Formats: sequence, C-alpha cells, structure tokens
Amino acid sequence: MSVEEELNQSVAYTPLQRMRHSAAHVMAEAVQDLFPGARFAIGPAIEDGFYYDMELPRPLTPEDLPAIEARMRESVAANHPFVRSVWPREQALAYFREKDQPYKIEIIENLPDAEVGIYQEGPFLDLCRGPHVESTGQIGPFKLMRVAGAYWRGDEKRPMLQRLYGTAWQSDDELNAYLERLEEARRRDHRKLGKDLELFMISEEVGAGLPLWLPKGATVRRLLEEYILAKERDQGYQHVYTPQLAKLDLYKTSGHWEHYQDSMYPPMVMESGEELVLRPMNCPHHIQIYMSKTRSYRDLPIRIAELGTMYRLERSGELAGLARVRAMTLNDAHIFCTPEQMLGEFIRVVQLIQEVYAVLGFKDYNYRLSLRDPNDKVKFEDNEAMWQRSEAALREALDQLGVAYYESVGDAAFYGPKLDVQVANVLGKDETISTVQLDFTLPERFQLEYIGEDGMPHRPVMIHRGVLSTMERIMAFLIENYAGNFPVWLAPVQAVVIPISDERHSGYAERVAQALRAAGRRVEVDLRKERMNAKVRDAQLQKVPYMLVVGDKEAESDAVSLRLRTNENVGAVPLEEFVTVAKRLNDERSQELWPARE
Ligand SMILES: [Zn+2]
Ligand SMILES: [Zn+2]
Repeated sequence: MSVEEELNQSVAYTPLQRMRHSAAHVMAEAVQDLFPGARFAIGPAIEDGFYYDMELPRPLTPEDLPAIEARMRESVAANHPFVRSVWPREQALAYFREKDQPYKIEIIENLPDAEVGIYQEGPFLDLCRGPHVESTGQIGPFKLMRVAGAYWRGDEKRPMLQRLYGTAWQSDDELNAYLERLEEARRRDHRKLGKDLELFMISEEVGAGLPLWLPKGATVRRLLEEYILAKERDQGYQHVYTPQLAKLDLYKTSGHWEHYQDSMYPPMVMESGEELVLRPMNCPHHIQIYMSKTRSYRDLPIRIAELGTMYRLERSGELAGLARVRAMTLNDAHIFCTPEQMLGEFIRVVQLIQEVYAVLGFKDYNYRLSLRDPNDKVKFEDNEAMWQRSEAALREALDQLGVAYYESVGDAAFYGPKLDVQVANVLGKDETISTVQLDFTLPERFQLEYIGEDGMPHRPVMIHRGVLSTMERIMAFLIENYAGNFPVWLAPVQAVVIPISDERHSGYAERVAQALRAAGRRVEVDLRKERMNAKVRDAQLQKVPYMLVVGDKEAESDAVSLRLRTNENVGAVPLEEFVTVAKRLNDERSQELWPARE
C-alpha cells in the first residue's frame, strides 16, 4: 500500500482505530518535544495498535520508551482537543517547509487535492485526513512496544526511518490481556522452542530460509510423514518420487511461468541452451505421470501423492524460522477424476482433513472459500467460464458437506478456486494449514484425457490437495500449538530413565530402557554425574513426557517411579504396566499424557 493510500485508509477507521491513530499523534507530539529536529512520515493505526515512522537525530533504544510514554501521559492528562482544519495546499507546503518536514512535503506534493486536512492537538500539528477522538483524554491505556527500521515508502533506495510501535486499548484489562497473549506467544515462539528443544536450525553458511532439521525435529517430522503416508495408502493414494528440477518449458505449459514467476527462482541455463528451474509446485510432474499411459474411465480416480520438495522465492525480510522458508516439502497429492467423481473425491479429502485434525487436536478451525479477484488478469487465469464452473462446483461440495464457510476474494490459486482450512494459532489468528483445489485449467493446458465408456477421449478434472501443509509449516504450527509439549506419539524422546545413584542403579536403568525400546519407545538413560533433581528438571525443560526415576525400591520390585513433564508425581508403577500404557497412548496417538487416577 502506498503512503497516500495509507493516509486515505484513516477515513474508514473504526472508533478503536481512531483512538489508536490518535495515540500515534500524541506519540509524535512527545517525540517532537523530546527530540528536537525530528522529522515525521506517517502514523497509521494497525492491528492491535499504531506506529509512527520518524527520522530522528539518533537511534531510539528501549530505554527511551519510558520517557516518551511519560510525555504522552502528560498530553493525555492535559486533554487537548483534536482540532481539524483545512488548509490550501500552498499554505501547508509553506508550513512544513518552514518546519523542515520533507516527508510531509513529499506527501502533499503527491496529493491531487487543492486543500489538505490538518489536525492539531496541543503543540503538535499534523497533516491528516482524520478522523480522531475529540480530545487526547479519550485515548485509552497504551504502551510503547518496540522500534524497528522501515524504509521510507518501503523503498530500499530511500532513507531508513525509525518505526516506533505502540499498542492502545479501551481498558486496562484489555491492555493486560493483550500483553499476556504476546508474552505467551513469545514463550511458544517456534524459533525459540526450536532452538531450546534442538528441533531445527538455520545456518548462515547454508542460507536464509533453508532450515536444517536436527535429529529430534527430524524424528517428529518422520512420525508425521509416516502417519499421513499410511492414511493416504488407506485411501487409495499412490505415492511417487519426482525430481525437484524441471525444464522451464514445463512451467510455461502449466502457466506457472506466466502467473507464478515472482515466486520462482531464475532459470539455470545449461551449455546446450536448455533452461532448468527449481520447481515451485509439484503438479506438472504428477501430470506427466498421469500422461505416462492411456487412462480409461475404469482407472479413475487416480490419486498421485508425494512428499514433494519445492522452492519458492520469498523475500529475505519475510523469512521466519520454519513458518516462512525458501525450500519446503509439501504433503501433496493430485487426484485425476471424471467430472462425476469430482464432488465425491472433494468430500473425501475434506473428511480426511477432519480426521487428521482430530488426531492433531485442532478444534478451532474454519473453512475459507478462496476466490479469484475478477479484475486481476495477471495473477488469475483469464477464463470466465472456467471460474464460474469451478466456483459453482466448490459451493455445491461445501453445501453437501454441510460446513459453514466464508469467502475471500483474491486468495484463489491461479488455475482455480480453493477451499482453505484455517486453524487458529496461539494468538487466535487464522493460518491456512490445508487446501483443496478444483482445477479445470491444468487438464486443459496439458490436454489430459481418459477414454470414456463411449470409447471417446474425455477431459479429467484435477483436485490439488495438501492436508498437513508443508512439513515446515505444520512443524512451526505444532511447536507453537503444543508449546513444545508434543503428545506422546510425537515426542522425540518419550521417556528418560533417571537412576538415583549412577553406580548402584545404572544396571536396572538400562534394563528399563531396554524393555521400553523393545516395545518401540524412544528412551534415553541419564547417566550424567548430576543430582537426581537436576536430571528431572532438565528432562522437564526438554518437555519429555515421562521421567522414570529408579532406585533400590524400584529395582527390587521391577517398577519405575513415574513423574510427568507437568511435574505431576504418579509414583510407583510396575514396569510392565508402564510399558503397556505408554504403548497404548502412543499407538492411539492420544492427546492424553497419562490416564487420570480413579
Ligand atoms: Zn491523524
Ligand atoms: Zn498442485
């Protein structure tokens, strides 16, 4: 969004946004007072708060924030009215020239209007279309959050400004609840937990956005993969392997090069002149497999699945841990079916998604019907009849499923509309995990055929679907969703055996571990020369579900003293019983840590 559009947005502010934007003015007022010579760019309301972009004589540090907040509180206590006026453009230009405010001047010069809006509160005067609260006393409880760099107009060639963020709410309770949510999100941040729990790493030498999965993270991923592969086999999917490179021409035929180029890496030109690209999607490869022989209506539906690795050119500023990466592996599948089979197949995919979510413990999710933006002919295939047909089919499938859904314009794939399943994250915000897409476009572009009952060639329909999303995204999501406390079946280490005395009890500890390993559990024995309590604490910090403390008493009675990562002390449990119960919870992929006592 351009700076000018951003300014226009304010006209439609809700009362809460109006209050937050007013807080941005008051923050600028405080900064103007504390940092003479400050130059101001723009200060809009944003989700949960506001910011102001400023050029200051020196970089702000977190230590500056209390002083700015204190000065803001003075302005709020003074209850200055926000006074609106309209100035002729020339008067405004002269004023901001005199005040040495080049960003304001540039904005005015870009405005077509003969007059510009001005708001003043107390000593601070700003170029603004409003609206605002009536006076500074109406600004609710606020807090300044952080400073970040931001290029003027988002342009790397323009000056780097300081963006000061704040949050403001209607009541102290709302402010506190928000700060607690943020703190909880920080505690659960998958980048932090990924490091603490040794799940994955990013290496500068390998490159940004190219995560390396450490053994424990790889264990979790492999378990998820094995789970979904087995589910897919049950449902008649056939798994394939296909390469991550392909000729550029393949993506010209598919339309990716035309519509999706911005997300693709530049072609590699071979000596022969042949051009190869890293694939941004797996569909064209699977289409080639479909085309590898003549297909009859009796063969359909054909469900081709792959944990397909692919590459997308994300901007470096947008990369984040496993959540936003440049190399990713999608739990992908393409279903080739007859038009008559399409609805049934679509419904089966949604039911599979529902089953998987029940196992992962997702309860808070909803369905988004993602449609094209009819005005955007670059991003979306220009074929009115195709869009009409596939949207109608999707709506019918959703009606048959009887699920509630909402619509979102502009979020479709270039080749057709899709159903996105949105799961609420730790902050209560929706993230797309699964997608199901109906596609009449690629079968046309690749001239796909099957021989019908009438002996004539017909065009199949394609369904693209991802259930677990990419392994990277689902891992980031699960780490945060579980706060690192993976259910037993996914925990990289399921139990740590802790001998009370390492000399006397290490033999029995090894025997316990052996019994558990024989039953398929992932177990470690902690033989470090540490105190028992320290070992228990370390295992808890690693979020290991079970700590099995063993000493003389346990060795004599073939038992373990069971402690849970929740710090609950279950007490003595016969070894055999522990093995049986842990195996049951694992095999059932239960969310339960240990059965509650009667
Ligand atoms: Zn304003
Ligand atoms: Zn696809």
